[in-house]
Amino acid sequence: MTFNVTQKMSESSFYKRAASYWANVPATIDGVLGGFGHISDIDIEGSKAFLQNIFTSKNPPGRQHALDCGAGIGRISKNLLIPIFDKVDLVEQDEKFIDTAKMLIGENNSHLGTMYKIGLQDFKPQKLYDVIWCQWVLGHLNDFDLINFFERCSDALTRDGVIIVKENITTTDEVDYDENDSSITRPYELIKQIIEEASLKILKTDIQLGFPDDIYPVHMFALAPMEPSNIEIV
Ligand code: SAH
Repeated sequence: MTFNVTQKMSESSFYKRAASYWANVPATIDGVLGGFGHISDIDIEGSKAFLQNIFTSKNPPGRQHALDCGAGIGRISKNLLIPIFDKVDLVEQDEKFIDTAKMLIGENNSHLGTMYKIGLQDFKPQKLYDVIWCQWVLGHLNDFDLINFFERCSDALTRDGVIIVKENITTTDEVDYDENDSSITRPYELIKQIIEEASLKILKTDIQLGFPDDIYPVHMFALAPMEPSNIEIV
């Protein structure tokens, strides 16, 4: 049930095709949501509720530094993360999306941190984060790169930091490949397997409510390292 991209096409063409798809998408909410701009508000509300729930858990993450992965035009940074965190960094590979994000968030917004223009498969976090948010982008990484990306994120978490994943999940146990944007949609079991391979554990999951019936179910996961990296050896 794994997605081995090299069986279908070369790895570089999987990534190149996605980059050129997004290069031709307008830098609007409707563009980054594939024509579903109207679900943005309900998506943000669901994310807020999920995050608030995590903040009320026993050892909640801090509110200093967040990272928005595959940030697009900064929809999540602007509406969800910036109102909560002191500083928000963004990773996005498409230049025109980065420029639009800067404009929409406001270059002088004191909460806007660094914007990294790079693919997640090549990105290595340079700082520690309380929350690393990954939404509607992980289907652009093959399994191998996703495991490695998760491992790098795991190493970049503060004490009690979490990785949040919010992604489409198939309703079958097959991986769906979308040739239009060169992405895949994974079944629940595969995501779970990848999370385990990256030595992460699931702290909490939820399903986004209120979305149209004819789109993939959207699941949220809060992840943390299986073995806390902050164990003090005495
Ligand atoms: N997460 C944002 C944007 C979703 S659209 C939101 O929910 O609003 C998907 C985004 O992922 C696009 O901005 C696209 O440029 C970006 N993307 C696609 N492949 C990527 C990759 N390999 N690395 C980083 N970003 C990627």
